[in-house]
Amino acid sequence: MGAACRMMERERTAADGGAEIGGRGAAGAAGSGSASGAAAPFAIETYTLGPIQTNAYLLTAKGPDGAEHAVVIDPGMNPKRLLERLEGVKVEAILLTHAHFDHMGGVDELRKAAGCPVYIHDLEADWLTDPRKNGSMRWQDVTPPLSTDPAEYALDEGQKLSLLGAEFLVMHTPGHSPGSVSFLCGKHLFSGDVLFKQSVGRTDLPGGRERDLYDSIRNKLYKLEQDVIVYPGHGGKTTIGSEMAGNPFTKF
Ligand SMILES: [Zn+2]
Ligand SMILES: [Zn+2]
Repeated sequence: MGAACRMMERERTAADGGAEIGGRGAAGAAGSGSASGAAAPFAIETYTLGPIQTNAYLLTAKGPDGAEHAVVIDPGMNPKRLLERLEGVKVEAILLTHAHFDHMGGVDELRKAAGCPVYIHDLEADWLTDPRKNGSMRWQDVTPPLSTDPAEYALDEGQKLSLLGAEFLVMHTPGHSPGSVSFLCGKHLFSGDVLFKQSVGRTDLPGGRERDLYDSIRNKLYKLEQDVIVYPGHGGKTTIGSEMAGNPFTKF
């Protein structure tokens, strides 16, 4: 596991013991006490999956057909628990914040079970099909080489996705990887491996760039309202305001 631990060293500094593992309704709890409008138009469940404890986020809402609909952000590796939960649920989309193996490992299993499309930023579209690019070739002590079918849709900055009756804004936030995106829906930001609670994503993997990472955080994420809740790819959730005030890596 040594290599994987090194790989995620900085990310794991954000880990808070997995308090949200499999938890339900995290957003509702986080939103309590803050301004009206913070409530999500969907429920948010966190599944911490795989050897690198990657957060898969399951968003669910009742559709116009009366059935439970879902969006999955980063299905992680070994998504068995997630698949069980999704039986009978209509999955509208799998959104990927980026294509590192710990975030995309469960894509094909979930896509086959749910019959839904996959979205990823254009710059990492070919990482899904290439174990060298998605990192799985390099970290063989924790994963076999992984590849999936190509994504159905490519994302880019400023795109708006209508899912679960809500609008998701695609923010291109490169630095951890060139095609990293964050998804903003109302007061809820799914930040992948860009911004963590009290930490930031590492930039020493292929395509990573420190200057881009800090540009993404300073010029995009930190321009959001302070009470926006951040759901990172690893570790516990936080808010834009508390990271601006106390994240030791972003003392700009
Ligand atoms: Zn990553
Ligand atoms: Zn990760």
